[in-house]
Amino acid sequence: MNTGYETRILQVVSRKGKDANLILEENRFHASGGGQPGDKGRLHAPGFSAEVTDCFREGEQEVLSARILQGEPAEGLEVLAEVDLDRQDLLSRMHSAEHILSRVLESRHEGLKVYKVAVGEEETTVFLHWDRQLDWSMLFEAEDEANEVIARDLPVTIRLFSPEEAQGIEGLKANWDRLGKEPVRVVTIPGFDCIACSGTHVSSTAKVGGILVTAFRGTAPDWEVKFTVHRDRILKEYSRVVRVLLRKVSCPLEKLEKVYDRLQEERQALARSLDKARGMLSLPWETRTVGSRPLRVAVLPGMLPEMAVPGLKSLVESDAHSLGLVLVPSAEGTEGSFILACGAEAGIDLRKLVREHPELMARGGGSPGWVTGSTKVPNAKAWIEALQREVG
Ligand SMILES: [Zn+2]
Repeated sequence: MNTGYETRILQVVSRKGKDANLILEENRFHASGGGQPGDKGRLHAPGFSAEVTDCFREGEQEVLSARILQGEPAEGLEVLAEVDLDRQDLLSRMHSAEHILSRVLESRHEGLKVYKVAVGEEETTVFLHWDRQLDWSMLFEAEDEANEVIARDLPVTIRLFSPEEAQGIEGLKANWDRLGKEPVRVVTIPGFDCIACSGTHVSSTAKVGGILVTAFRGTAPDWEVKFTVHRDRILKEYSRVVRVLLRKVSCPLEKLEKVYDRLQEERQALARSLDKARGMLSLPWETRTVGSRPLRVAVLPGMLPEMAVPGLKSLVESDAHSLGLVLVPSAEGTEGSFILACGAEAGIDLRKLVREHPELMARGGGSPGWVTGSTKVPNAKAWIEALQREVG
């Protein structure tokens, strides 16, 4: 659906590398505004072609951002201009859907106010102020009502009024302080919505297809609600992910939320008891010497490395010259985690040991006195030898 029209380049506003800003004698590209992005498309002429990446208003003018693919844009050049009408139609559906959803939310919930929108090709975001808690149940209700409005196939009309006339329209929603002397473009869905808006719209609500609210985020009073008009495609994607998940969790659909909540509780309980256990743990330290400094080594197969942190910390704090090494080999013993620490007076940069001893096959980081990471050589002998070369 891309039929071009013939016009002329009226002005090359700017030119930088392959990018140019152009003004056409006749412009049918819709300029960005009110949260809707500008139209895209193409310009062609013999020996010249360009991709239109945006259209925006600058004062009275509508300017195209273009990426030159071939030739030079010249003032007076006759071109075939093609607006990407499929994309424009999609943005019109998204924008009209936004009007419907915003209106439903505002009319159902006193004090809820939509103050900004960002219309996108995949998803549209509605920014709203509401000093109460937004939740899925109210969004599901709003989604249902919006889809009913869409199914009723109400006409969507766009008319221009003078600012004086506009002030007399009952129930018209507009940013009154932003209205100037220019005509006001009023978008009306009879019996439902009447708003000043510069965007493109479908001619009747059924053309939106359908709305699916996909996400919401924020905290009171600043909320964002995301939705899409790609309802069928996204529903299919969601349902496939859910079915795969249900098979993994092995529970029926209606139990999924409960199972998730229970797993969360179990995780938190486990974390709490691990925290308690850490303090009580005494590790099987073996004492060695590197240089003239004591080195305590603990090899702890299958343990969580974090469990060793309090013990190791108190060890190097109680003797500022000492070093400590914790190795946690995996079950196969072919890799593992390490923690390497030293006291404040030890005078060693442990990061250097990890960096400059490739035989340890270690990756990690930290501070000069505390380094953690993973190693493919979770073997105490190799680490002690490396420490001896480095320190002794
Ligand atoms: Zn609009």
